[in-house]
Amino acid sequence: MRAEIIAVGTEILLGDIVNTNAQMISLGLDELGIDVFYQTVVGDNPERLKEVLEIARGRSDLIITTGGLGPTLDDLTRETIAEAFGKKLVLHKPSLRRITAFFDQIGKQMTQNNVKQAMLPAGCKVLDNDWGTAPGCAFEADGVHVLMLPGPPKECTPMFHTAGMAYLAKLAGGVIVSHNIRIFGMGESAMEDRLHELMESSTNPTLAPYAKDGECLVRVTAKAETIEVAERLLEPVVRQVCDTLGDVVYGIDVESMEHAMAKLLTEKGLTLSVAESCTGGLLSKRITDVSGASKFYKGGACTYCNEIKMKVLGVKKETLDEFTAVSSQTAREMAQGIAMAYGTDLGIGITGYAGPDGGEDGTPAGTVYIGLYYQGKTQVRRILSPRGRERARWDAANNAFDMILRVVEGRKLI
Ligand code: ATP
Repeated sequence: MRAEIIAVGTEILLGDIVNTNAQMISLGLDELGIDVFYQTVVGDNPERLKEVLEIARGRSDLIITTGGLGPTLDDLTRETIAEAFGKKLVLHKPSLRRITAFFDQIGKQMTQNNVKQAMLPAGCKVLDNDWGTAPGCAFEADGVHVLMLPGPPKECTPMFHTAGMAYLAKLAGGVIVSHNIRIFGMGESAMEDRLHELMESSTNPTLAPYAKDGECLVRVTAKAETIEVAERLLEPVVRQVCDTLGDVVYGIDVESMEHAMAKLLTEKGLTLSVAESCTGGLLSKRITDVSGASKFYKGGACTYCNEIKMKVLGVKKETLDEFTAVSSQTAREMAQGIAMAYGTDLGIGITGYAGPDGGEDGTPAGTVYIGLYYQGKTQVRRILSPRGRERARWDAANNAFDMILRVVEGRKLI
């Protein structure tokens, strides 16, 4: 198979950015044994992109494009490719739902022009984008395989390494199997540092680290003739990654921290309630996003002001007067209070300054205390997440999930 990579973006031609996507894709294709004969860069110009596509389809069996899948008017890759290959663009409803859910998750309003990102060539294989909004896709026309990927490397790289390479391996008659090792409590660079040697020495399986929403994951991917052979290659490497990283690993192939926590509490038959202040219900929302949450989740209270913290949770007036609402002591009483009020095995209490303002006493924005009550004992973690309101809330929820996972699994609470 002769492959050609087309990077679409005027910024690359101007020298503003380096075409790292092409390098990443070339390396991946080499792993799959697919020869890359050409790399092309073209600006955000439909006429010139069309010219480039005409040349590419005459000399290549596989064309991979990156960039130009965004929602704005100058993002024309999708439309131009569809026209060049005689494909109609049709609305792919599951992608539109994913885009809507993505905006919900980051707490932003989706605008109408995002809908065009869900318009995909009829009959294509959709490549889901878990890292952004624009889905990728793959199709075959007149013996030429075409793969479209988004431009941002944070989206393009994981998509190519997962769905993209799996699609291509299938074309080549093999399989690609991956396992995702999920990590919370260690940054991407520390993780890469620890895994450096293993990453350098592993060719099949390969290791790819990613950072996402305050947590990290390592994807271990093997290619082989059958799934069984791939699994045999993966097993020792997955074990080695887990051993190297230690107890920051919270799950393998789990969807999210809340899913890992839901599974654990359901298995153990434990119940949970939460008292939230600065997270404003986000924790409760994320818990109830997991289907089957009613098996362990009794409910939550958004106790935003002091009066309600006292009335509903029994937080003492003296505690609030002496230590303020944003304090370890208040988080502790909130956690205990909700567990008592709702009669649950575990209780979470979250209080903090999500930002942009911090406390009048000089406590910085992004300071959050998370209390966890379990088996008669309450522990509190203090975090500092100064990257804006949304992020502080998200990080606070992640930390609450991490604390529950650690305490119930008997891992050390850090
Ligand atoms: P978006 O939804 O963000 O608009 P897109 O698919 O339309 O995605 P582009 O608008 O083409 O992508 O590019 C978005 C950003 O991704 C660019 O500003 C640049 O920072 C980065 N990028 C694009 N193409 C490449 C590339 N080939 N190599 C490295 N980075 C790239």
